[in-house]
Amino acid sequence: MSTSYRICLLPGDGIGPEITAEAVTVLGAIGLKHDVAFEFSEALLGGAAIDATGSALPEATLEVAKAADAVLLAAIGGPKWDTTDPAKPRPEQGLLGIRKALGLYANLRPVKIFDALRDASSLKPEFLEGVDMLIVRELTGGLYFGDRARETGVEGAATGGGAGMRAYDTMTYSEYEIERIARIAFEAARTRGNRVHSVDKANVLESSRLWREVVHRLHEAEYSDVELVDQLVDNSAMQLIRTPAQFDVMVTENMFGDILSDEASMLTGSLGMLASASLGDGTALYEPSHGSAPDIAGQGVANPLAMLLSVEMMLRYSFAMHDAADELAAAIEGVLADGWRTRDIASADTLSEKILGTSAMGELVVARL
Ligand code: NAD
Repeated sequence: MSTSYRICLLPGDGIGPEITAEAVTVLGAIGLKHDVAFEFSEALLGGAAIDATGSALPEATLEVAKAADAVLLAAIGGPKWDTTDPAKPRPEQGLLGIRKALGLYANLRPVKIFDALRDASSLKPEFLEGVDMLIVRELTGGLYFGDRARETGVEGAATGGGAGMRAYDTMTYSEYEIERIARIAFEAARTRGNRVHSVDKANVLESSRLWREVVHRLHEAEYSDVELVDQLVDNSAMQLIRTPAQFDVMVTENMFGDILSDEASMLTGSLGMLASASLGDGTALYEPSHGSAPDIAGQGVANPLAMLLSVEMMLRYSFAMHDAADELAAAIEGVLADGWRTRDIASADTLSEKILGTSAMGELVVARL
């Protein structure tokens, strides 16, 4: 074998281990075909890590992740670890912590309609014509990383009046953070439809006003060939459903991006079809956009395609294996075009014999490769 890549696997919780197994099988097939050796090292994150070590992000996991050429994360979390006690560890700390530790400031989420799945969308097919967008979400700043606290004994804060508790979260952005994420969006737009929607809440938030200023300054200085559209986040939430095909690249801050990308996922008909890449200056991390789906964990019915589409992004962005990525994308399209479905993307007309479990879907993709 001429080339080898080290991949850190973080199966996490719920359906995580089931879909990770399919990713490993598919990568094995791709490695054989392209004469590349993928070396896997598995580490703990999220609830599984809390159970084993008491921490959602053990130091050993960070070491394995940093030493790898790419990280493939399935999903974390579940009711077992849900708590509102701020002193207890929570699975999300693993996710936020690894993003921060690897400096992953850009989350890229493609939203593409697969022809075969038009019926799975909750929108009428005519609204889906031409939908092919990329959401670029800022991932290490904003509300999810700003100062937050609870204050006790605050006068007038109790439900019945008198002293009570108050909590706050803060949304902070620096010019540097805004410029580097805007740059990724403009660069991506140049390789696609050449249009960027910058989504903010500049009519209310100071951090959004700085966002808008910096995006425009960069646009004028370096990317005036790209069309730039400002949109307020509440309007974007509506436009995504009204005319989703207007979007090429959408760039936005952390929480807005979290919410809008879940909304956009429904255009595709299933969270089980949405991949993502998180990029920084070092090792990148790839993960499906969905969570750990505790309601179906262990049943062998989870859709592995978002995980496999995340593998496709890994092949492209971390290993520059564009041919292999194209083949994987085509294999997935082919399987869907032949009518095969997992339960979440099956429609009322899908024949029951066409509805597959997790590993049968993975095997069909491998067979196509
Ligand atoms: P979820 O994405 O786990 O599930 C939402 C719905 O979509 C469920 O009905 C689920 O069965 C279905 N679904 C999701 N992925 C699927 C797949 N691959 N195949 C078939 N069906 C799929 O979101 P949730 O229910 O809000 O959260 C469950 C847990 O996951 C929570 O603990 C949450 O904190 C965590 N979570 C983790 C991540 C992550 O790891 N990146 C993201 C979101 C939520």
